[in-house]
Amino acid sequence: MQVYALPLHNRFRDITVREGVLLHGSVGWGEFCPFADYSDGESVPWLAAALEASEEGWPAPVRDRVEVNTTVPIVPPERAHELVHRSGCRTAKVKVADRRATLAEDCARLEAVRDALGPSGAIRVDANAAWDVDTAVRALAELDRAADGLEYAEQPCPTVEDLAAVRRRVSVRIAADESIRRAEDPLKVAVAGAADVAVLKVAPLGGVRRALEVAEACGLPCVVSSAVETSVGLAAGLALAGALPELDFACGLGTMSLLRGDVSTRTLSPVDGYLPVLRQAPEPDAFAQFAAADEVQQVWQDRLARVRAELSRTSAG
Ligand SMILES: [Mg+2]
Repeated sequence: MQVYALPLHNRFRDITVREGVLLHGSVGWGEFCPFADYSDGESVPWLAAALEASEEGWPAPVRDRVEVNTTVPIVPPERAHELVHRSGCRTAKVKVADRRATLAEDCARLEAVRDALGPSGAIRVDANAAWDVDTAVRALAELDRAADGLEYAEQPCPTVEDLAAVRRRVSVRIAADESIRRAEDPLKVAVAGAADVAVLKVAPLGGVRRALEVAEACGLPCVVSSAVETSVGLAAGLALAGALPELDFACGLGTMSLLRGDVSTRTLSPVDGYLPVLRQAPEPDAFAQFAAADEVQQVWQDRLARVRAELSRTSAG
């Protein structure tokens, strides 16, 4: 097992360094990297996904490459323009509703992104559940105007009920992310009419197979996103995107650019907006640059042991 600590270019939610564990098993490498605020119970599916990757492998893909979006964090408009332009992607996902930026600043960032993409590009926003229903309705109208048309808005509000209420009042498509990722019943989103699009992440759903089951059961168009893993964990997202029967939207897997490095020299960076569907293994020289300090290693060893115990307890029960 190898513990990494990879600095981010910009603060992402509340972290500046991404940490996790790479596990080696009989069929390859898996990545276990629940965020620090996740409980041991919430981390169980993350471990199940890492064990699927390392011990079991994934279903055969039906496509060999996946279109991805570039992600624009909370940065000034000039920087947003530059990031999008440099990415080569036709779709941009723009973070909005962050406490460090006003709605006017979000609009300015969207205008810059539209300028960089041109009229044929697609722009989606992600509010990470920051708004109440009325705020979401007002903000989405303004953001839709600034972007000259939004492809969809990801998780404008926290609850499934609020998503459904916003969806009834706006013309912008609604995507559910946190509602699927941290929900006890991911299918509630579809049943409640709360979303037009489902955002699937392999680790919180417990693996590629489990995510494929969720996709089939919810019956919504799906977008596969990463949890900002290294290339090892990102490959699981590509396996899911590669195996989904239908894939109508660009996926949120172009996230290597958020990290200041990778555990492999063949990092999964998009070329002309596409990523190949393939597995990745860490390389010793690349990994050595991002090996975590001893005390961080200890934290992850302890966490892994606790979550392993939790996993065997829950699968035994
Ligand atoms: Mg999201």
